[in-house]
Amino acid sequence: MPAAKPKTATLDSKLAKLGLRSDMDLVLHLPMRYEDETEVVSIRAASLRGGHTSQVEGVVVKNEIAYRPRRQLLVTIADDSGELLLRFMNFYGSQVKQLGEGVRVRARAELKHGFFGAEMVHPSYKVINAGAPLPTSLTPVYPSGEGLSQTMLRRAIHEAMGRVDWRDTVPAPLRAALQLMDFEQAVRLLHYPPADIDAYALETRNHPAWVRMKFDELLAQQLSLKRAQQSRRQRGAPALVSTGALSAAFLAALPFRLTGAQARVLGEIRADLRQPYPMQRLLQGDVGAGKTVVAALAAAQAIDSGYQAALMAPTEILADQHFRKIAAWMEPLGVKVAWLTGSLKKKDKQAASAQAESGEAQLVIGTHALIQDTVNFARLGLVIVDEQHRFGVGQRLALRAKAGADMVPHQLMMSATPIPRTLAMTYYADLEVSIIDELPPGRSPIVTRAIDQNRREEVIERVHAAALEGRQIYWVCPLIEESEALQLQTATDTHAMLAEALPDLSVGLVHGRMKPADKQAVMDAFASGAMQVLVATTVIEVGVDVPNASLMVIEHAERFGLSQLHQLRGRVGRGTASSVCLLLYQSPLGGVAKQRLMTMRETTDGFEIARRDLQIRGPGEFLGARQSGQAMLRFADLETDQWLVEAARDQAAALLSVPDNPIVAAHLERWLGGKEEFLRV
Ligand code: ADP
Ligand code: MG
Repeated sequence: MPAAKPKTATLDSKLAKLGLRSDMDLVLHLPMRYEDETEVVSIRAASLRGGHTSQVEGVVVKNEIAYRPRRQLLVTIADDSGELLLRFMNFYGSQVKQLGEGVRVRARAELKHGFFGAEMVHPSYKVINAGAPLPTSLTPVYPSGEGLSQTMLRRAIHEAMGRVDWRDTVPAPLRAALQLMDFEQAVRLLHYPPADIDAYALETRNHPAWVRMKFDELLAQQLSLKRAQQSRRQRGAPALVSTGALSAAFLAALPFRLTGAQARVLGEIRADLRQPYPMQRLLQGDVGAGKTVVAALAAAQAIDSGYQAALMAPTEILADQHFRKIAAWMEPLGVKVAWLTGSLKKKDKQAASAQAESGEAQLVIGTHALIQDTVNFARLGLVIVDEQHRFGVGQRLALRAKAGADMVPHQLMMSATPIPRTLAMTYYADLEVSIIDELPPGRSPIVTRAIDQNRREEVIERVHAAALEGRQIYWVCPLIEESEALQLQTATDTHAMLAEALPDLSVGLVHGRMKPADKQAVMDAFASGAMQVLVATTVIEVGVDVPNASLMVIEHAERFGLSQLHQLRGRVGRGTASSVCLLLYQSPLGGVAKQRLMTMRETTDGFEIARRDLQIRGPGEFLGARQSGQAMLRFADLETDQWLVEAARDQAAALLSVPDNPIVAAHLERWLGGKEEFLRV
């Protein structure tokens, strides 16, 4: 596609700042709204419907600069029906001349009734000759950037429209089947909508012309993601074909039976691991659903097949907990498990790396330290990433690269944060998804209550009573996003307050800034039952598993997001004792916070919570803007355009089933140009 040839280099670079490089980029830079300049009403009619935006036409009868209350230009125009004051607070000397007496102008603004009668403040206006024709289409208003006027943009877009190749990339039979408008027709209509267009459909982007744009955009996204998937499949991965003695012994030694859901997802994972191309599977299951044991069994298959497995967790606490649990399962079966985190002494770190490199360690568990350059694996067959949403795309890719240049290890990602279906179909189109939709038996439901912060004394009483009954309690400190230091201070203060209020109990404190060994000592004391109350910052949010803990207090619950509250609450309800979660809040509550706390009280179902979260926050924010599929979309809305997402996905599959389909290339070039790599994750 030829590049746009704007008049000056500066215009070029200003357009480039908006991402507008090619002619097609310009053509697909669609208006965000429109102004209706197709109609002129009489000054009298405009006055009568005051408060609305109107366009009037008149001849200047008076032009003066006033100095009180401040310097301003006052221009009075008149038509047959009356007079109207145009007021300009900021103006150029040239405007004073331009709007001289006898000049005919068209002015458009909201009409107000001021002290001196009807007036428009800072109207947009044009000097015209009598009888000048009115525009026949609505005037587009484009997203713009610094130093780039609407006039410049309109001209650049108009010129580009004369140069592009308009051929439709969506085949006619498909357009007919989906009742899609033609590409050129849709684009032209959106840039120059006729005056009689259904303005509401245009504004809400439900007009067929918008639908066509959304479909095209989604189709490009789906094509790109599916192609990435195809090229991944062309890369080799070790076929982990054996679920031998280790897997069998592991299952036999487990103190419980897998739930039906665990057995099902394990079957899906096992089948993937046997393939000679890399698995890329997301294992989703609500907090406490039992993902760890499934991961360990996947690792067992890699080890049974003569390969290594690596498990990466986002925090030291969680990595350590995995290490202890999995080592306790696996080491008696003769598996060598190594432990690798940033906090290890240099010597120990080197020893762990050496074990990974020699192949002596069959399973390596750790934090980000696993992806450092100095760590190499002898025969890495499977990479497991726990709480995958906590890692950036780059970190996940780095671990995958550890297998060597021509081989890619299988990848299992785990998350308790459920991803709504439309998001899974877009951002995660390249992933297979397994869902554990059943909790292990014997769990009792968690009762959640919201309690005003000023009833804290009662809550402390309750903590005391629970501890005397042999229960353990988490007390989560408020989130203070602005300042980590302040958050730490609050945690320390809360700890001191509780230790004083509960002198007969052992009250501990854990936060992110503690030395790993100290953190570990506190977690050990709590896990063993020696400590009854654990005051914690959100470091306990992910993964921590102490089944005897059955009461959780969350202070300033109104500051937390829904998924975070759900994760925190998931720390209780893991044993057989009935569990309680108390959400302390500071009144008065804002609307969103109220909705969140209500949701927490009403349901413990992670999928339902995610659905409501999506409703409250919108998909763009859901996974963090950069990660979400929505961030790549300009026109389509993952929530409201679900049927289009599905249609686009189906069509992408059909188009890609034709080898080297030229339609695919043309469509991707049109919609993504060189930007396709953004979608590759
Ligand atoms: P999550 O899915 O949140 O990572 P975990 O893997 O930490 O959950 O499991 C939560 C708890 O449930 C652990 O104590 C684990 O040992 C236990 N568990 C897992 N599967 C079962 C099962 N099938 N029956 C009984 N308990 C189980
Ligand atoms: Mg977990």
